[in-house]
Amino acid sequence: MQASTQALRPSACPGLMRIVPARDGGLCRIRLACGELSAAQARVVAQASDTFGSGLIDVTNRANLQIRGVREDSQEALVSRLVDAGLGPITPDSDDQRNVMSSPLAGLDPHALLDVAPLVSTLIDQLQRDARLHQLSPKFALMVDGGERLAMLDHPHDVWLSAISAERFVFGLAGGPPRFENDAPALAAVETGHVPALVDALLNTFLDLAQPWQTRMRDLLTTCSIEEILGLVQEKLGFALDRDVKNWRRPASDARLRFGVHRQGTGSDVCVGAQVPLGRLDAAMLSALADLAPRLRMTPWQSVMLLDVPSSSALVVVEQLAALGLATHPGEPFARLIACTGSQGCAKSFADTKADAQLLARSMPPAGDVHLSGCARSCAAAHRVETTLIAVAPGRYDLYGDAPDALARHLTIEQAARWLARSSLDA
Ligand code: SF4
Repeated sequence: MQASTQALRPSACPGLMRIVPARDGGLCRIRLACGELSAAQARVVAQASDTFGSGLIDVTNRANLQIRGVREDSQEALVSRLVDAGLGPITPDSDDQRNVMSSPLAGLDPHALLDVAPLVSTLIDQLQRDARLHQLSPKFALMVDGGERLAMLDHPHDVWLSAISAERFVFGLAGGPPRFENDAPALAAVETGHVPALVDALLNTFLDLAQPWQTRMRDLLTTCSIEEILGLVQEKLGFALDRDVKNWRRPASDARLRFGVHRQGTGSDVCVGAQVPLGRLDAAMLSALADLAPRLRMTPWQSVMLLDVPSSSALVVVEQLAALGLATHPGEPFARLIACTGSQGCAKSFADTKADAQLLARSMPPAGDVHLSGCARSCAAAHRVETTLIAVAPGRYDLYGDAPDALARHLTIEQAARWLARSSLDA
């Protein structure tokens, strides 16, 4: 049964975890450091989603989980269950600030420059313990990049930090690591051990300068120059920022590494990745994933990696993932389709994007990524996708490529599939 948005209070559990109203009931976001949870925690989430919600669980494009359809009379019990399982914040009023993104292979990729997982934990701890930082917007987000071969580099972050060696990080504001010649360069470098102090100075400088309407770093940069911000940051630091980093470029990452079997660190275990169709799990699927590996990592592609899998079991695990309905190869339709919540869960949506994406999956051409969005806000994709279908009415979409103008309008899903097939033949 659908709960009405108006009937739900914004949160029944002030101070711990925020449950926001949605068309299909309360929405409880579970923030995961490095996207990781243990199999035991995954079972708790699966059971809690069944007991207190609709049984549906989203993997978000920030590598978190969301329990959907939470009933109003179950909110406190749900939060209590999650906090007991170690999935909540460590201090009141700090859950929203635990936004530190890293690679799904943080600490696991033998080609990375260093293991950033301890640094991610330190920064999340800092964000929770410093009460002043709780003034940051729930959307204010940091990224810590250890140079892993699999990293989501397309999401803009308020503050980003990239390792250039095991001893040094460069950083920037309101964007991501520069990869191409014309990208905005890194601003400065610091020693790895100085990163927590740097982040503290950056966030406090942001709070010192930001007007109430300036909730994101990009907003602040409309009224303050980078030089002004860096000058104030430098005054807070007991070490000098090294500004001689303008030529650094981040080596390319490979999103296809989220699929298949990969070496995990230097041990004999492997990790195995697969795509969750349309980022949507149910309780039974999540429980089944927890049975396949002792640790799970969610990724910003709304996919999952199973960790600590004995190499002798890897191929069986791939088969089991496929049997659960996950895409195990980058060419599969569900590896190339994303869709926002759509009208099942969002009042702003003009169409049932999840159902329409299921329909489109049956006739996807062999190449190309497609994003279905219920409205122009495009919540599901923080990065550029080759083709975007924006709903304008139930079952009807305008189709966009690179250009701001639509390439075709008011298409049914069948017409969109034909359009995609034609353009893949032309390519
Ligand atoms: S893109 Fe629009 S319709 Fe889809 S979830 Fe976001 S606000 Fe709702």
